[in-house]
Amino acid sequence: MCEYCVQHGHGKKWYLNARNYSKDLAHSEKVKQFCESFFGREITPGAKELLPSGPITVEERQKENHRYMQYLHHQVISTDEALSILKLASYQTDESERAVVLLPCICRYSAYGSDPNLSCYGIAFTDEYTHRFPKYCGGAHQYVSAEEAQETLEALIKTGPVVHAMSALGVPYLGMLCNCDMPVCRPYLLRKRLEITSPIYKAHQRAQVDVSKCTGCGICETKCPFGVPTIDSQNNLASIESHACFGCGVCQRYCPENAITFKPVGESIPF
Ligand code: SF4
Ligand code: SF4
Repeated sequence: MCEYCVQHGHGKKWYLNARNYSKDLAHSEKVKQFCESFFGREITPGAKELLPSGPITVEERQKENHRYMQYLHHQVISTDEALSILKLASYQTDESERAVVLLPCICRYSAYGSDPNLSCYGIAFTDEYTHRFPKYCGGAHQYVSAEEAQETLEALIKTGPVVHAMSALGVPYLGMLCNCDMPVCRPYLLRKRLEITSPIYKAHQRAQVDVSKCTGCGICETKCPFGVPTIDSQNNLASIESHACFGCGVCQRYCPENAITFKPVGESIPF
């Protein structure tokens, strides 16, 4: 269990705890203030500068660390977990046809100028925040039921190596299921650049290769968004380093031999 599960999970993984999607939390002052500023700001499409160039000061690093620990913390989750969370969303509203709002991904919008797939899934929102969406990232958004969101998610992962991550909008309130494009994912780029884990935690699982099934085709090596699998020069089979793996499940989706399985995170493997 990560420390967010210990503090906010009540015996479960924190992003599977229905309390963290509750209306009480959604209406809390912390969440309200954060969402007002986050969804109310102007984003320049295609600006491409996801991170400030040049050296970063200690104060700036501390500021980003605090922002992500307290507000925007992301955690990688599996596709099965993502589908379960969308089901949870349907219990958070009396209007089941509006359980989920599909939004442009702010990172793709900033990097590429648009996100026609509407890759970010806002869940458990209150109407206090939804009035912001006509302006947010160009205004494209769409309300769907939890069942429709599950279908669009399954279609989305067929478009490329999408990585699911639950995002807080004021910890522990979980308001967004992100479906990330890692080359432009700001939390991941921040983690790499600042060498801090607060922007995005790894999943609660790590991939492993069943060498009795692996043929050494190398597909996992080319598809992993984090560059983890390698083909061992001794036996020509895939090898996955647990400490580097983010547990996203992309390699498993693409492996033609079903040679990749998952194990829960052990005590010694960091998030
Ligand atoms: S994609 Fe599967 S079969 Fe191919 S190298 Fe990776 S683990 Fe082995
Ligand atoms: S090895 Fe597989 S599970 Fe691990 S980070 Fe790469 S794609 Fe994700």
